[in-house]
Amino acid sequence: MITVDRLYVRYDDTNILEDINLNLPTGITCAVIGPSGCGKSTLLNVLAGLQKNYQGLVQINGANPSPKKQTIGFIPQNYGLLPWLTVKENILLGLKIKKEAKQGLPRNLVDNLGLSNLLNRYPNNLSGGQQQRVSLARAFALKADLLLMDEPFSALDAITREEMQDVFIDLWQKQKVSTILVTHYVEEALYLGQKIIVMTSAPGGIYKIIDNPLFSD
Ligand code: ADP
Ligand code: ADP
Repeated sequence: MITVDRLYVRYDDTNILEDINLNLPTGITCAVIGPSGCGKSTLLNVLAGLQKNYQGLVQINGANPSPKKQTIGFIPQNYGLLPWLTVKENILLGLKIKKEAKQGLPRNLVDNLGLSNLLNRYPNNLSGGQQQRVSLARAFALKADLLLMDEPFSALDAITREEMQDVFIDLWQKQKVSTILVTHYVEEALYLGQKIIVMTSAPGGIYKIIDNPLFSD
């Protein structure tokens, strides 16, 4: 359960997020769309526990967002890979922090994301799309309580994007992980989001939350 009550984020005197209220049940996928600069990434950062400077109530399963209290899989816009670690080490990083590294690499997931031949490479030697798939693998491997994805398919070509969207759907059907996905693409929001949050232009508030009639689970 995600509860957000009268959330405000301000920089200097400007509101970035203004009066955000959300009540999302566990296990649903939710897409966030809205104009560039309206605060979508800021909202994800608050939910990830990375943006501490906010006003209002934010709770995930009854506690403030924190890596100590919940397992949160986060796919940031810039992929968030550590350049001094190999692909394999990057994927295992989240599991290590969760103290589950003993389980080893999730081979099926790595195969499905097309990463099997890249495991010993370093992020700087990968294309943007490849780095994005590593970031997806790291987050999906966690079996997280909450998956936060900031334009997670943006660096992929159209065909790979559809494949990776379907890997996500598979994962979601297996794990029913609560997911919030920021996207620029209305088609993607309609394909992946049970609910669609439409934000207003800056300062970001919620214009509408739509129950997606096209979503099939
Ligand atoms: P979106 O993801 O919808 O494009 P962002 O959340 O990235 O929007 O940004 C929302 C607004 O907050 C933008 O106007 C951006 O310039 C501003 N902003 C984001 N981070 C900072 C920061 N650290 N300091 C000042 N302004 C910021
Ligand atoms: P292991 O090899 O340790 O059994 P898997 O690769 O089978 O691990 O699974 C690791 C994680 O990836 C699991 O959470 C599983 O739900 C997920 N996963 C497995 N297969 C797929 C798939 N085809 N698409 C998406 N996620 C998958």
